[in-house]
Amino acid sequence: MSIDQSARGLGNTPEAVDYRIEFDLQVCTGCGLCEAFCPVDVIALREPDPGETLEKAALPAAVAPELCWGCETCAGQCPVHAIKVLAQGGRDPFKNRAVAPPPPAAEIKRYALWAATLKEVLGLRWEPVAISLISAGEPLPDLPIPEERLRYCQSLMAARRGRSLMMPANRHACPDGTSILGLTAMPAKLASGELYILFHKLHDIEAAQRMVHERPSLPERSIDATVVSPLAQAAATPQVIAVACLPEQAMWLLMSSSYYSGHRHTLHASGYNAQCVETTLLPLTTGEINVSFGCYGCRASSDVSDDLMFVGIPLQLMETTIKGLRELGKKAIGQSRAKIYLPPMA
Ligand code: SF4
Ligand code: SF4
Repeated sequence: MSIDQSARGLGNTPEAVDYRIEFDLQVCTGCGLCEAFCPVDVIALREPDPGETLEKAALPAAVAPELCWGCETCAGQCPVHAIKVLAQGGRDPFKNRAVAPPPPAAEIKRYALWAATLKEVLGLRWEPVAISLISAGEPLPDLPIPEERLRYCQSLMAARRGRSLMMPANRHACPDGTSILGLTAMPAKLASGELYILFHKLHDIEAAQRMVHERPSLPERSIDATVVSPLAQAAATPQVIAVACLPEQAMWLLMSSSYYSGHRHTLHASGYNAQCVETTLLPLTTGEINVSFGCYGCRASSDVSDDLMFVGIPLQLMETTIKGLRELGKKAIGQSRAKIYLPPMA
């Protein structure tokens, strides 16, 4: 690293932590992504000093270091890995947090039964995923924080394969998901929609503002960590259960949740912010099941196949949904899969 920038500030943690931001200016391209994505405007691009021999139009600097709270969004977005955010004195802001006990055995048994029913009746390939958002200051489940930085959607994809992950803001790699889920403030250029135009995701700023306006988000820093695990081994009481499935399996899930009520669903899908908004936050905030087709981000950053989609089920609908699924599994699902209405082919 050629230049150090020191940052001293308070994170939203029980323990004050000072941070130092190091930019490797030899490697830095001056792209400005760190400036654009820092949610609290710590970083700004500057003109190179006359004495600097680097032939670059702009270089980053920590201009408001006292505001830094160590979320590492800047480091996660830097395309050339030129940023390190270092907690001073080796202090770990999560070190002294109270540890939450795992859910009681009876609860885990119920989740395992749900997972087995979902897998057996639907023929799911992947584990259903338990999602918990840990509110600020709440005890944290006894899970390791991963070394790698992942997008929220990547963590869901890892959990469907059997991995349990707890990720505070500084382990999240996607600024959209991190701020939408309330782990950080929303960077100004994301809130204004400007970045979606820059990355050619929407036609104009009006369209971008409408997309941002129509999606829910949690208050900034209201959530300390996201926790995902296979439902059968839920590390914390889930708020939403996510199911990666084929369209036909999603159809049966919708029918299962309506089996006793006949309710026709109004779904909210857009192709933007699939896992954070459509699979997690909408079921959490509306109490309704929702279906997502995925988004460009999660399809570009995970191994999810083109034919998979996602269903988010709020915890309070699980019991009814599982009961409905068992009923449909007795006859309707088998008959449909046997194509009983297909006329004989000549
Ligand atoms: S993005 Fe986060 S870690 Fe980076 S400078 Fe801003 S507040 Fe600090
Ligand atoms: S994101 Fe990385 S490459 Fe771009 S200006 Fe910041 S430090 Fe330099």
